[in-house]
Amino acid sequence: MERIRMKNPVVEMDGDEMTRVLWAWIKEDLLEPFVELKTEYYDLGLVHRDETDDQVTIDAGAAIKKWRVGVKCATITPNQKRLEEYGLKRIWKSPNGTIRAILDGTVFRAPIVVEPIKPVVRNWEKPITIARHAYGDVYKGSEIRVPGEGRAELVFTGADGERKSKIIYDFEGPGILQGTFNKDSSIQSFARSCFEYALSTDQDLWFSTKDTISKTYDATFREIFENLYESAYRAAFEARGLRYFYTLIDDAVARVIRAKGGFVWACKNYDGDVMSDMISTAFGSLAMMTSVLVSPDGNYEYEAAHGTVTQHYYRYLEGCETSTNPTATIFAWSGALRKRGELDETPDLIDFANRLEAAVLETLTAGICTKDLAELYSSGVAVRSVSSKAFLAEIRKRL
Ligand code: NAP
Ligand code: MG
Repeated sequence: MERIRMKNPVVEMDGDEMTRVLWAWIKEDLLEPFVELKTEYYDLGLVHRDETDDQVTIDAGAAIKKWRVGVKCATITPNQKRLEEYGLKRIWKSPNGTIRAILDGTVFRAPIVVEPIKPVVRNWEKPITIARHAYGDVYKGSEIRVPGEGRAELVFTGADGERKSKIIYDFEGPGILQGTFNKDSSIQSFARSCFEYALSTDQDLWFSTKDTISKTYDATFREIFENLYESAYRAAFEARGLRYFYTLIDDAVARVIRAKGGFVWACKNYDGDVMSDMISTAFGSLAMMTSVLVSPDGNYEYEAAHGTVTQHYYRYLEGCETSTNPTATIFAWSGALRKRGELDETPDLIDFANRLEAAVLETLTAGICTKDLAELYSSGVAVRSVSSKAFLAEIRKRL
């Protein structure tokens, strides 16, 4: 059989533990037999990150900027325990954080929906994609434990020496204080990424904050979105019959639960952190969440939302067969190949990506799955949970 050719490469970022094992199997069983894979390979496995003093992660980020499409395997974010386990030179930063800083992107997370696996919320028919603004707010906040009576003030000193200040509170006893910030430039990038992503996936965009309470901070988020929509996106949205919809976060929560799905929900940093876990749990499993980082200038990095599935890897090392779910990692590849095909205008590659996803969904719809999903099927479906290798073979048959 003649294999599909690629015009330009995708940036391939290998990773760690069980997902590194799955990565090689997915390529061998599902990709290489059909596609003459053209990738620029970066080994982001922890051993190689340590050997290169993490330069490989920075190089991979630069490569995504060059080639515009990357696909990443899950990687270990080092901590003290990993430092000892791997004998690391130091505790390297999270690769995802490093790449996000290089691309200045927004992360979009969407569940993979399979007919016989019903979400907890029964009226959800289509996926809900969470767009999380992954910069600032409480994640870069400064806090003070107030020891006792005294005055708390908010002070800004301009580069020209001009001061603005406000009294926050006159404490009569001990308490707590928190200072947070964000930047117009970051919010604008976030807004642009959201509008672009909604258009490219043909979905409505929702955005929510608490601007009735936070009349400057959250209201600035709302205004930046509104201004960008009016100046750059309204025409494109209307031409496609799509809607940009702003509402308060509490109203959004109520509407999301009653909705049918099929839209992008843009959230501030903290809201996105919380809501993405709520959405993935309600849709079924972390192993069925895809994740794509989109930069405002149109670079895309695809990955699974889950980690390296460490416990399964230790069992694999002992020689046990594991039933680790490769679905989200396969969808990371299909997402990257589809985007490559769109940018290069190579319909065969787009077609392959669609067929690959269809083969996975068909396998799951037939009740053949990995162990994590077995319990989630609606009653009446004959479910057979198999090993990762056997699951890949079933997909291959259908592909
Ligand atoms: P995890 O690897 O996502 O695994 C957490 C648990 O979720 C697993 O123990 C497993 O449950 C279940 N699970 C997740 N993915 C699964 C899959 N594909 N198939 C079946 N079950 C799955 O998270 P973690 O244990 O917190 O982190 C492990 C390592 O991954 C850490 O070193 C962390 O730094 C890294 N991490 C990387 C990324 C990334 O690169 N994007 C994201 C998160 C975490 P059972 O054990 O009950 O079967
Ligand atoms: Mg979280």
